[in-house]
Amino acid sequence: MLIDTHCHLTYDELRPQVDAVLERARQAGVTRCITVGTTPADAARALALAAGRAGVFVAAGVHPHHAAEVSDADLAYLSDLHAGKREAADFDAPIVAVGEAGLDFHYDFAPPDVQERVFRAQLRLASEIGRPVIIHARQAERRVCEILADYRELRGRAVFHCFSGDSDLAAHILDAGHWISFTGVATFRNGDGVRAAARLCPADRIMVETDAPFLSPEPLRKIRPCEPAFVAHTARRIAEERGSGFEEFCELTTANAVRFFGLPIETSGRRAVGPSDSGISA
Ligand SMILES: [Zn+2]
Repeated sequence: MLIDTHCHLTYDELRPQVDAVLERARQAGVTRCITVGTTPADAARALALAAGRAGVFVAAGVHPHHAAEVSDADLAYLSDLHAGKREAADFDAPIVAVGEAGLDFHYDFAPPDVQERVFRAQLRLASEIGRPVIIHARQAERRVCEILADYRELRGRAVFHCFSGDSDLAAHILDAGHWISFTGVATFRNGDGVRAAARLCPADRIMVETDAPFLSPEPLRKIRPCEPAFVAHTARRIAEERGSGFEEFCELTTANAVRFFGLPIETSGRRAVGPSDSGISA
């Protein structure tokens, strides 16, 4: 059993076929996934999509690419969603994390000071609401660590998603107490640095994800869109790198995801594994 801890089921490549995508995931042993809303409006769509679909949880935040587009009212709306108000009140809101949030100096779609302001607003929200944070950091990992240090209550509650750096950068992030999550990048031919990072990650702070519809892992790299079922390939490759059995690594990362995101124990009720109760969904 595996959990895809980061995907975007609301994106155009996946949303029209989401029930088939989730069924294929289940067949591949991927029984749960976290769909990440990257704007307040996308987060509302993610909540609607998750409603009535077993095993789908939601992260709600503002991706740094969108930092320049959000107003204070949008941020207030995001806080309301996390507090179970607005659209979240209409659904059996399974919001489990703030994010993805952070800084992206590679694309620079928003000015750095704007990115930082929106990032800090989300860190305050995570602190207040008591939820973990999914971090998006690109060419900005060290600055993100500096900012996170201002929020001591979030120590051990931030995961650097889609880690794409090398072992030095991973060590820096791990020394600061954060978690690391790996995508299909760990399977790429040019992914030696990422694999080295995956080898040194402590067993209790490592997770796997797809970032679907992006980043299909090898040997499916040419198949698009990527979907949650594919996370098994990433897990298999990292397990090999770590000298671990595949099943054992799946168990480890699943237990980590349950602990990090505070997911319910799987057999306990309405969010249990199983075919989706489609029809209820909005
Ligand atoms: Zn993402």
